[in-house]
Amino acid sequence: MENRSLDDFLDTEGAESGETAPSDPDTVGEGETRVDPAAVESAETTYAAGRGECEACGESVRERWRGEAGLVCPACKEW
Ligand SMILES: [Zn+2]
Repeated sequence: MENRSLDDFLDTEGAESGETAPSDPDTVGEGETRVDPAAVESAETTYAAGRGECEACGESVRERWRGEAGLVCPACKEW
C-alpha cells in the first residue's frame, strides 16, 4: 500500500516539473551573446572584481578573491 502511494507521488512530481520547466531554446538568451560556461569558469569562480573590504582582515582592496572566508584580499587568499 505504501509503495503504491509513493509511486503516485513520484509520478506527479515528474509530470509537474516536465510541464512547468521553460525548456523552449528559442526563448532563452534572446538578444544576448551566448557564453560557454566552461570557457569562463576557471577565471570567474575565484576572482571577484571591484573594490571592497577583505572579509578576513577588513582591509580595503581594489580586487578580491573568493576564499574560504568569502571575498578576501590577495594577502589573505590561500593559493
Ligand atoms: Zn585580507
